Amino acid sequence: MAGVSMLRQLNISGLTERLARRECSARESLQACFDQIAQVDGTLKAFLSYDVANAEAQADEADRLLASGVTHREKPLLGVPIALKDVLCHRGQPCGCASKILQGFVSPYDATVVTRLKEAGAVVFGRLNMDEFAMGSSTENSSAWTTVNPWDPTRIPGGSSGGCAASVAANECFGSLGSDTGGSIRQPAALCGIVGLKPTYGLVSRFGLVAFASSLDQIGPFTKSVGDSATLLQAIAGHDPRDSTSVPQPVPDYRKALGGDLRGLRIGLVREFNVGGVDPEVDTAVRAAVRQLESLGAETVEVSLPHSDYAAATYYIIAPAEASANLARFDGIRYGLRVEGRDPAELNSRTRGAGFGPEVKRRIILGTYVLSSGYYDAFYLRAQKVRTLIRNDFLKAFESVDAIVSPTTPTPAFRIGEKTEDPLQMYLSDIFTISCNLAGNCGISIPCGFTGARSDVPRLPIGLQILGKPFGEETLFRIAHAYEQSTGWHREHAPMA
Ligand code: GLN
Repeated sequence: MAGVSMLRQLNISGLTERLARRECSARESLQACFDQIAQVDGTLKAFLSYDVANAEAQADEADRLLASGVTHREKPLLGVPIALKDVLCHRGQPCGCASKILQGFVSPYDATVVTRLKEAGAVVFGRLNMDEFAMGSSTENSSAWTTVNPWDPTRIPGGSSGGCAASVAANECFGSLGSDTGGSIRQPAALCGIVGLKPTYGLVSRFGLVAFASSLDQIGPFTKSVGDSATLLQAIAGHDPRDSTSVPQPVPDYRKALGGDLRGLRIGLVREFNVGGVDPEVDTAVRAAVRQLESLGAETVEVSLPHSDYAAATYYIIAPAEASANLARFDGIRYGLRVEGRDPAELNSRTRGAGFGPEVKRRIILGTYVLSSGYYDAFYLRAQKVRTLIRNDFLKAFESVDAIVSPTTPTPAFRIGEKTEDPLQMYLSDIFTISCNLAGNCGISIPCGFTGARSDVPRLPIGLQILGKPFGEETLFRIAHAYEQSTGWHREHAPMA
């Protein structure tokens, strides 16, 4: 039996086994998280806030259910502490999107994913740091503070869901939920050495997710293992009448996809992703991962996504356009911050001027510009057409392969401050993750090694991205799990863990 002090190091499946055997309680599991937060979060800064009493009440309820004989078959997450990105509504808790403009806003209802986590028995707690309104790749755009990377506190944890990735990698919680619009789950998961899944658009309800770019946003899990990712997805996936884009189709049993080898699977390597600018150690690790997949029985073939070059440009038109419309609701009247003015127009502009940070303003201005009459056809409409071409590239590639692999990010975690002066450099850290959102298919990032072979580079995690067909999550889990079990990178702990 693991001592209570080691509880935090368990993954979800390890924890539920112990909870089921009554070797620990939900309350102790939660306490293990609080203890670790007290230990490391002063440096890590992953949590914006957490409500101890609310979490303890949930844990006590889980302990009552466990005592009355409720099993993890009925409630798969019974007693498991799970934390949330500050973009998901949790009734009675602050929801600020790491923005000043939402200062003081308290969620009046639960996001559907939160309702589902609770129905599955999870102890939902905490607000995790992020780039303001999920715009960024490093958490440096948070209005609160920058979260650091648990492998090296001089580096960023990735973003925009940096707090989600850092908290799981540092064992402050057993899993977390974030959102991915252009890579915000997969990129920080890669840079923090954990598993991050962006589900297919339409698989998980976005009800109660503060919208950034509604046609790209998806909610997904951060976990310490592939099996845990399947467990969390199982809990949150499925049709929700309150999100009209959620797809009314049955959810498969994802855990059935775990186990076995990869014989009969065809995996694509993207010709156009063979670009310069990929860090040599990232490249080496990903090539080794490809050989490992082959040794597990997969056949690898080259595929072409001819419009990949345009993905970043297309994304940085469509995402800001949608953001400019979505963020119009923060008007100083309805939510959060209000800076008074002589009339509503002045109140509105003062509030928005004081409440939004520089990156959010940049996106709103960019988005308003590409949607304005005269420019709409030249930019927005054209970007939508290119988006269709990108989607068609994927559908064509998936006619001949079951999945596609690539690095998740071109480089390992960069230094805090390294890219803040150059938005374009920051945008380019998403080149491998963005097209998946434009196409609407699914993707996962799993640990595939470390830098540090060279003496001038510290030991930093590297992520392998596996992209799947629309609703191809089972195949992603099958490949990711076989790779994980045959390599064991996920068993390595960050120094702060
Ligand atoms: N880094 C990208 C952006 O800034 C993606 C963010 C996200 O996925 N939320 O838009």
